[in-house]
Amino acid sequence: MADDEEFRFETRSIHAGQDPDEETGALMTPIHANSTYEQDAPGEHRGYEYSRTGNPTRTDLEANVASLEGGEYGRAFSSGMGAINTVLNLLESGDHVVASEDVYGGTHRIFTQVYEQYDLQFDFVDMTDLDETEAAMRENTELVWVETPTNPLLNVVDIASTAEIAHDNDALCAVDNTFATPYLQRPLDLGADLVTHSLTKYMGGHSDVVGGALVTDDEELDERFGFYQNSVGATPGPHECFLVLRGTKTLPVRMDRHCENAIELAEWLEDHEDVSRVYYPGLDSHPDHDLAASQMDDFGGMVSFEMDASLEETADVVSNTEVFTLAESLGGVESLIEQPATMTHAAIPAEEREAAGLRDGLIRASVGIENVEDLKADLAQAFEQSLN
Ligand SMILES: *Cc1c(COP(=O)(O)O)cnc(C)c1O
Repeated sequence: MADDEEFRFETRSIHAGQDPDEETGALMTPIHANSTYEQDAPGEHRGYEYSRTGNPTRTDLEANVASLEGGEYGRAFSSGMGAINTVLNLLESGDHVVASEDVYGGTHRIFTQVYEQYDLQFDFVDMTDLDETEAAMRENTELVWVETPTNPLLNVVDIASTAEIAHDNDALCAVDNTFATPYLQRPLDLGADLVTHSLTKYMGGHSDVVGGALVTDDEELDERFGFYQNSVGATPGPHECFLVLRGTKTLPVRMDRHCENAIELAEWLEDHEDVSRVYYPGLDSHPDHDLAASQMDDFGGMVSFEMDASLEETADVVSNTEVFTLAESLGGVESLIEQPATMTHAAIPAEEREAAGLRDGLIRASVGIENVEDLKADLAQAFEQSLN
């Protein structure tokens, strides 16, 4: 039930795509752990033949995520990268893609290290500057790839204007909505053609599952996604689908607390003498604060900040926290902390990294839903132990 637009987000997050099991009345979607399905006669089946092609647990998840994004069609994948790969499967050699210069590292890697060898061309531009995006468009541009807010500097890209630029050039506009989640930002409503997700992050929400999704309103596009989903085979197992479905039920309440804690921590950091700069779109000091306020319902749980400190001292800060766990990834209920220069963004050569603003003293925090006073106290003690 409740795929329906008439139900509000919080109701759809719990119910969309899911009905009590017809046979048993079980409230929760069963984990359909099987590979194949009985046919009554050759080709006469009850909707499922083989679990790579379709699985009932996956069907519920796909309907749920589609509903949350306000889209008609959803497809689930074994990882965010599996979903992203499927979008690239739409392209032909010789096609050109314009992408944000600070896309997720794995996205940059699949673009340049996997698909350039098939003669796809990629340009990375500062998408906070619409003129740069416009200038990068070519005759053969088929796809414009937006990520917003970006990682780890939380830059904000104008989705509606960027989608217009894409459409003026007959290109598709894809938005990676992993950081914001549909609770805070719905790219399809703003004109995007498709949305990609790493379900691993806030959608799953408990750091216990890896998954991805694509959502679109375009039936033909969805059919092509389905073809590649089945042909390439990066499909999630039913256990993974179950875990994400369990996660999306609490997405709104988790996101509310992530946002509450993040703004409070960002303001506290901004006032802290050891911190030289805070990156959080909810702060008035953020250069794109007004744009973020207009295209997002709140500002998310990711906060980055720069210490007045060396690479080593900053490494000590992230090693000396007790509540924040030193780890890559994000979006779980627990707070994580990391140093982009030596961890998530270490693959970028030092000079390029500096030029992109990813300085040695930069720290990225995935602010969890613990008590925010404990989070502040934890950072304060880590600063004190590590800096002198
Ligand atoms: C993690 C992430 C991905 C990749 O997703 P996986 O589930 O790790 O494959 C893509 N985009 C963004 C923004 C991410 O944070």
